[in-house]
Amino acid sequence: MTQQKANPNPKPIPPGYLNIMGYVDESEVNGPGCRAVIWVQGCLRECPGCFNVESWSFETNQLMSIESLAQKILNNPRNQGVTFSGGEPFWQASALASLASKIKAAGLNVMSFTGFTLEQLQSQSAPEGAQALLEQLDILVDGAYVESLAINSPNSPVSSSNQRIHVFNPALQDQITWASDQIEVHIFKDGSRIVTGYRGQLSNL
Ligand code: SF4
Repeated sequence: MTQQKANPNPKPIPPGYLNIMGYVDESEVNGPGCRAVIWVQGCLRECPGCFNVESWSFETNQLMSIESLAQKILNNPRNQGVTFSGGEPFWQASALASLASKIKAAGLNVMSFTGFTLEQLQSQSAPEGAQALLEQLDILVDGAYVESLAINSPNSPVSSSNQRIHVFNPALQDQITWASDQIEVHIFKDGSRIVTGYRGQLSNL
């Protein structure tokens, strides 16, 4: 019998949907190569120095269907994969596992950040769906951001020294090429902007 953690979302997210904070169609600072990035909404940790405080609330922000996100990601021929960031991706693990399986079926790779450790995600008290999502991942970056352990180096793929990179797909072993201090500015048709890449996080301007 499992004792998985209860989902902290105050309102159930409709089946087949994700509650997201943001989406970027092409990024080169959130994982290997060119990839889409999904920032999910909701995180319980409240890490001091978090660059993405707007992601903490579990209230509904933007509901997007798994199907429409998969189409967006796969419609861009430059994308080699997708990265899940947050917020905490593993509080929506089951829906992300479904999305990941569609992306992988098309030959792309899937990476996720998480504030949990891999051991916590493999334990019986992991969030619901954690194992299903782990089975889909090519790369996992684990561990919450710890301000006192911050690495402010242009060459580091992690933001604080407690974080670990688990490469489950050997084909990506030599592609740990992104750096947490690089940034990108995305300007959308409606004039809104997203800055991403710094500490693997996102902010709206
Ligand atoms: S740094 Fe990451 S794990 Fe920590 S509060 Fe911010 S979003 Fe959550």
